[in-house]
Amino acid sequence: MNRYREFHRRSIEAPDEFWRDEAARIHWHTPFDTVLDRSNPPFARWFVGGRTNLCHNAIDRHLAQRAQQDALIYVSTEIGIERRYTYAEMHAEVNRMAAVMRSLGVARGERVLIYLPMIPEAAFAMLACARLGAIHSVVFGGFAAPNLAARIDDAKPALIVTADAGARGGKVIDYAPLIDEALSRAAHKTPHVLLIDRQLTPEKLNAPYLIDYEPLREQFFDAHVPCEWLESNEPSYVLYTSGTTGRPKGVQRDVGGYAVALATSMEYIFEGRPGDTMFTASDIGWVVGHSYIIYAPLIAGLTTVMYEGMPIRPDGGIWWRLVEQHRINLMFTAPTALRVLKKQDPALMKQADLSSLRTLFLAGEPLDEPTATWAAQSLGKPVVDNYWQTETGWPILAIQRGVEALPPKPGSPGVPVYGYDVTLRDEITGEPCAPGEKGVLTLAYPLPPGCMSTVWGDDARFVSTYWAKSGTNGGTNSASNGESGELVYSTFDWGVQDDNGYVTILGRTDDVINIAGHRLGTREIEEALSGHHAVAEVAVVGVTDALKGQVALAFTVLRDADRYASGDARAALEADLAATVDRQLGAIARPARVHVVAMLPKTRSGKLLRRAIAALAEGRDPGDLPTIEDPAALQQIRDALRVAQMR
Ligand code: ATP
Ligand code: MG
Repeated sequence: MNRYREFHRRSIEAPDEFWRDEAARIHWHTPFDTVLDRSNPPFARWFVGGRTNLCHNAIDRHLAQRAQQDALIYVSTEIGIERRYTYAEMHAEVNRMAAVMRSLGVARGERVLIYLPMIPEAAFAMLACARLGAIHSVVFGGFAAPNLAARIDDAKPALIVTADAGARGGKVIDYAPLIDEALSRAAHKTPHVLLIDRQLTPEKLNAPYLIDYEPLREQFFDAHVPCEWLESNEPSYVLYTSGTTGRPKGVQRDVGGYAVALATSMEYIFEGRPGDTMFTASDIGWVVGHSYIIYAPLIAGLTTVMYEGMPIRPDGGIWWRLVEQHRINLMFTAPTALRVLKKQDPALMKQADLSSLRTLFLAGEPLDEPTATWAAQSLGKPVVDNYWQTETGWPILAIQRGVEALPPKPGSPGVPVYGYDVTLRDEITGEPCAPGEKGVLTLAYPLPPGCMSTVWGDDARFVSTYWAKSGTNGGTNSASNGESGELVYSTFDWGVQDDNGYVTILGRTDDVINIAGHRLGTREIEEALSGHHAVAEVAVVGVTDALKGQVALAFTVLRDADRYASGDARAALEADLAATVDRQLGAIARPARVHVVAMLPKTRSGKLLRRAIAALAEGRDPGDLPTIEDPAALQQIRDALRVAQMR
């Protein structure tokens, strides 16, 4: 552990030195004069005075050495196409897009809202913004009109880039009605809407405000648009959090710090080398997509694979065949996708030649042990969990294999990443927890490079939402008891750290349940249940109870539901599941009831909608759900609750 310990210690004790060295990984048009400006906490400014550009670092800088290497491989199993763009071709496309945007009046500092499916033009549009110094705000293509309208009003874009349609599970999703409704709902009037016409919809979009991209692309075919050299702390983009825990926050990111942090992560965490191929199966609408489909792999000179489609269409072997076909070296996805793949025929994985693959990375949700073990054993490759948030832009906890290949610890994403001063703190007192004690995962000021600079347009919200002096509930509520403590950032996640520094995430702070005075993370109960052979997936929520304060309710998806179809078999299973929790966590944690459902409500990024489940269980309206994988899952919960009530 010594190499890692020393590396991490240096990053925290001597951040100026540490990050000055790391900053050499990217191109600076003008060198910075100060590594870290901490004159205005909780704000931190990295590489002050340095001028650089994300697009230059992602594309232009590689032209000398890898113009003919693929930068982007695009695969859509939805519409059955595959396209490749070398760094030279990518450079040309990004210049065309930048020239078109410029002709529509987009300039440095202005926002461009990108509402696109997973198509190469989405990458071009993001990089074109970066080139111009415009601030992109990518809105996940699955968001409904009211969510889109709210983001338009917050970002106030000069331009929206959209497409005629998305495609999902073989169905074409018309964007026109969504865009129409969002524009009419939004108070902000966006001057232009640029349309990428994929020709997926028979009816031509003909709203008067739409501008067709293709003729403009032709017009600017040979354009060259110089990169704007931005001061390191100018905004590069605004990305709204998924809204799992409330009103989305516009996370604002800088330029220089982000580029440096991503470049380091490619070596120390992902072990990606120039010329490697990386397949991040996520969406450009999420932070994983921003960082690990677009910016990090390109900054590090890799080939990135962009995939439109599902993991199980045309069948559950598609991702493994992509690995074989494109000699993919690194894969990155969410545990939820893996759980889906686990249910597929194992032969599908065996049939593909996976010899190129070195590591599978996972993030976004807790990685349960059975899934991790299954993946590591069937792939025969390391499966590496990493924990972070939209706010941080890159991992907070991980095994940093490029620093030292520490042994993985089941159920834990690993140890604090260099640059992050992680402390678990008591929620009430804000005091640091002893090893083994549960608490809120906090980060000391300053956050490392690459993390959010502020909430877009709302510095006060940034300060009040995330920061507190220790001794004030670790930032989880605003009660204050003095100014003497350390300034800490709250992740709003609950966890526990062991003697060796490994942290296990126990759930979000608002997923913590209080049963008769005992505090438990929903994750702990979920983990106990998911270890049971009958359980494929599980969600645990806390609901109010007159006697105990709160009780836990479990909702499970079974591996083989038919086996437990009879009332007796079901009752025996429920008892057995309850006993499993008793054994592992004690009777206090035993769920008041274990419900069996066919599916669980999740966001389109695969996160369990525990708040919605809890609301239904307490007879409340689940409220506005910006993205839901399948609304029928809510009905499943309602039905299960109703049946239980009748019994
Ligand atoms: P909002 O903040 O709007 O509620 P969100 O938190 O779901 O949305 P993201 O920033 O995409 O949006 O998700 C980050 C959260 O996902 C983390 O704070 C944590 O709760 C969870 N998470 C991410 N990676 C992991 C992981 N490896 N293990 C456990 N939990 C994880
Ligand atoms: Mg969050």
